[in-house]
Amino acid sequence: MTITLRGLPAAPGIGLGMIFVYQATELDMEGLPPPSGRHASDPNQEWSRFLEAQAAVDAELMQLSESLDSVAEDIFSIHRLILQDKTLTENVRQAIHNDRADAVIATKQVIRDMAKVFRALDDDYFASRAADILDIGRRLLTQLGAVPPQTQLAQLPPHAILISEDLTPSDVTQLPPKIAGIGLAFSAPTAHSSILARSLGLPLVCGIGMELMAIDAGRPAIIDGHQGRLLIDPTEEDIRVYGDARRQRLQRQAFAAAHAHEAAITRDGIHIPVYANANTEEDVYARREQGADGIGLLRTEYLFQERNAPPIVESETALYRRLAADMDDQPLTIRALDVGGDKFMAYASPQVEANPFLGQRGSRFLLARPELLRDQFRAILRAAQDLSANAVIRFMLPMISTVRELEEVRRLLTEVQVEENGGDAGGGGGATIEIGVLVEVPAAALLAERLARWVDFFSVGTNDLAQYTLASDRTNSAVAALADPLHPAVLQLIARTAYAAKVFDIPISLCGEIAGDVSAVPLLLGLGITELSAPLPTVPRIKQTIRECDMIQCRQLAESALRCNDADDVRALLAIGVA
Ligand code: PEP
Ligand code: MG
Repeated sequence: MTITLRGLPAAPGIGLGMIFVYQATELDMEGLPPPSGRHASDPNQEWSRFLEAQAAVDAELMQLSESLDSVAEDIFSIHRLILQDKTLTENVRQAIHNDRADAVIATKQVIRDMAKVFRALDDDYFASRAADILDIGRRLLTQLGAVPPQTQLAQLPPHAILISEDLTPSDVTQLPPKIAGIGLAFSAPTAHSSILARSLGLPLVCGIGMELMAIDAGRPAIIDGHQGRLLIDPTEEDIRVYGDARRQRLQRQAFAAAHAHEAAITRDGIHIPVYANANTEEDVYARREQGADGIGLLRTEYLFQERNAPPIVESETALYRRLAADMDDQPLTIRALDVGGDKFMAYASPQVEANPFLGQRGSRFLLARPELLRDQFRAILRAAQDLSANAVIRFMLPMISTVRELEEVRRLLTEVQVEENGGDAGGGGGATIEIGVLVEVPAAALLAERLARWVDFFSVGTNDLAQYTLASDRTNSAVAALADPLHPAVLQLIARTAYAAKVFDIPISLCGEIAGDVSAVPLLLGLGITELSAPLPTVPRIKQTIRECDMIQCRQLAESALRCNDADDVRALLAIGVA
């Protein structure tokens, strides 16, 4: 009989496949037996076991570094060096021969002690090496039969439905793009791991609860990212119904894709540019295929996330130059590094905080580490120099909550402009540079008129605006449903920001995930949004939806929505059957 598990729909799509279980195991390195515990009966035999495990792990790492891309090659080559490290090998040998530990205990002891030393060094670079050491320890212990093998995310087959308690954003970036879908026990639709899944077009259901983890690997399943369901052991009837739904959806998508390169103009003639949200360099290039009119949000924190030190200006400049050269005068919106919250980089992260989403995040972090902001803007200015005056690069500031912060950031940016352009803050030639605010804190929306005079554009970040307005952590499945961007309180803030943009005659985009929800589009236009920036795979359907809109009706819809009491009432107002 089919078992249906319910959760929150976090990335649309339907996937049919087979369950793969991912246990992101914290290794129990502390669980050592007492000294009289597992003593090696034959040290020579234990030593050989260890050497065999070491050789097997080395072969595993070599194969991984050859089969993946250059970033993986670097990482796994470093892992091989650590594995062969003389101190590691010698310490294991001594533990086996002198302390008469068996191969498992000796490996645990040595790996644990090495990781501790690195962690204690109070340096981001070395702290992240501790994770590498533990990873190698896990592989050795798997070879020694002491822990079960871990699913390798990068090597999942196309039909896999991955289930896990949670996934980090970097876990998601490792996934092959063609797996059937993901089910998570925890997490929420606006967690960054969900956002990445959406941009990869992977169906995702989150917040299912811990009963998910009792499902055995290998069972057939259907994941329904629209309704937030995971069906285990589906019947033939389930497979037929979901197969039909999937085909219909593909047909609608095919129609929208055939028109993706046409402008999105409402029935009464208003042109709404539709941009794509990008998390990687490849996403920026892929916007062409999806018919996007530009990039409305480039999350730069993912571009250099594998690094342990900040990118040097030259390599950042080279990257932006490549991207800008591809834009054909379409706007490229580069968001300033947005770390903190649920995004932590080895090279740039705030100290551990009790409430990271309310802590030193986005522009607050950059004001505390101005060299990061300065270098990023310097790279943008240099990349812009080669472009024609028709090209537009937008630089967008996340997590601005006071006018003073904006003034302070702008002062820093002007300084860099003067340094780069030899005393001329405005000129220097090349592309037009616009500075804007990502309106994602209620204070910014409430003071939008004061901020508007300092910027060239606004973009509304509803993912955060909803979590801060409704005081519900966007990564917490227990309250995620509350952080609904369609809640009338959030809509009031969007309308207020749009009004300020209108008064100051600047464009206002919306780049939260709701921009990719076709049922929300008429409402967003009615609230006064003039541009949308949506997850990449949704762009053609968003454009098609705009073509079916009439602005007078959109405004009437917005007026009704603003009068609603809660998000459910708003959702009831929106068109049904457009998923
Ligand atoms: C937002 O908050 O809506 C946004 C676009 O930024 P992010 O999801 O990256 O925090
Ligand atoms: Mg945000």
